[in-house]
Amino acid sequence: MTKLTELTLCEARDGLVKKQFSAKELTQTHLQKMEETRSLNAYITETPEVALKMAAASDEKLAKNEELRPLEGLPIGIKDLFCTKNIRTTAASKILDGYKPLYESTVTQNLWDAGAVLLGKLNLDEFAMGSSNLTSAYGPVVSPWKIKGDNRQFVPGGSSGGSVAAVAVGSALATTGTDTGGSIRQPAAFSGIVGLKPTYGRCSRYGIVAFASSLDQAGPLTKDVRDAALMLKIMAGYDPKDATSVNIPVPDYEKMLSGNIKNLKVGIPKEYRVEGLNPEIENLWSQGIEWLKNAGAEIQEISLPHTKYALPTYYILAPAEASSNLARYDGVRFGLRTSGKTLDELYELTRAEGFGREVKRRIMIGTYVLSAGYYDAYYLKAQKIRRLIRQDFEEAFKKVDVILTPTTPTAAFAIGEEPKDPVTMYMNDVLTVPANLAGIPGISIPASFTEEGLPLGLQILGPTFEEARILNVGYVLEQAAQFKEKALKLRTSI
Ligand code: GLN
Repeated sequence: MTKLTELTLCEARDGLVKKQFSAKELTQTHLQKMEETRSLNAYITETPEVALKMAAASDEKLAKNEELRPLEGLPIGIKDLFCTKNIRTTAASKILDGYKPLYESTVTQNLWDAGAVLLGKLNLDEFAMGSSNLTSAYGPVVSPWKIKGDNRQFVPGGSSGGSVAAVAVGSALATTGTDTGGSIRQPAAFSGIVGLKPTYGRCSRYGIVAFASSLDQAGPLTKDVRDAALMLKIMAGYDPKDATSVNIPVPDYEKMLSGNIKNLKVGIPKEYRVEGLNPEIENLWSQGIEWLKNAGAEIQEISLPHTKYALPTYYILAPAEASSNLARYDGVRFGLRTSGKTLDELYELTRAEGFGREVKRRIMIGTYVLSAGYYDAYYLKAQKIRRLIRQDFEEAFKKVDVILTPTTPTAAFAIGEEPKDPVTMYMNDVLTVPANLAGIPGISIPASFTEEGLPLGLQILGPTFEEARILNVGYVLEQAAQFKEKALKLRTSI
């Protein structure tokens, strides 16, 4: 039998129902894997007692065969940006030292209500700001991927670095992530797994530590497309506690995976042939086009003329919102407190000590672009460009059903060889941020490898609330790419 940690979420679900193993066994095997792979630093907080208790409750239901919930007894991990009641939540920042939320995020509550089992809280870039997981106050996450005959350690991508590493190595069946500018899709591509960013408003943001509220969206990280469909169905839905969550029904995404894309119109945006796009990724893109053509899709070149402004626009709007959201960490209400002689000094010392370099940089950029003298020149202008970027997509989706692009301009980089200047680091997001600015859904599918054997991903974008459609196209790509089968042969992962 396949090892329990190698099963997909859906396979594990079916195995539990058929009583091939118990929820306790499934959970214990994952807890053991978590221990064996601690050197990856994927988890910030492990919750074995909670996990075993939840698994026992599921086993009781399974034994009686009563009211089985959709994720009954399935062990998963949660990005440590989601508040979990009475369980330490850090956002990978020192400033939240000792913080235990008094409430549960809606997305995680949905998962527990569906019977999922909490294994622990996963490492990330501090406040989800980064593309490498190198900015975490709890240290970097090491990717499970290696190059044969090469000792270097690679980044898993970010900011959901712990979430992708855990799925890739098998220390969780699936995990949650958040995506403000690419933090689900980019690390999924770097780590050879599936990552889905839903439409803005599809999942509730209630109880997720805010980074840039008009861009943040929760989504699943999984071993395959079917698992993403299952997870999203549970995570998504209207929530009166989040004013931006949208009240439209959540379809049964798994049932909608037909694999039929005959006559589907696929747009190829010429502006995504950005400078610095690795030739191997260009080839993969052409390969992806062939795969979809072979499955009966029609390919069309399209134009998204404002693409080149997306990254600068994002790096004005995201820090602006972040600087405002992070004003609440003042040393008074929660987390770290560094005493000073006056109240002002307490604020200053706490924030100086509690925030890392990247977070401080974003707060400074954000307050600058929002300041009276520069608001119109930067913030307001960026808002206007954001609208144009959204309109580009609206126009494109009048002609095509989905858009196919690579997920990232390069493969993962080695720890220690990361770009040293922030702007080059920001280039990682050049292909993912437009979807956040437009609020549309996107999915990254592991599709191929570099010559050295590191994973590469393809991205599918769709119109708002068409998650079922991009999942279905992803399903077709997954079958054509045979990534998992090739990965097993390459055996580059630990
Ligand atoms: N890498 C991007 C940033 O640093 C996106 C992060 C995210 O999506 N949370 O802002």
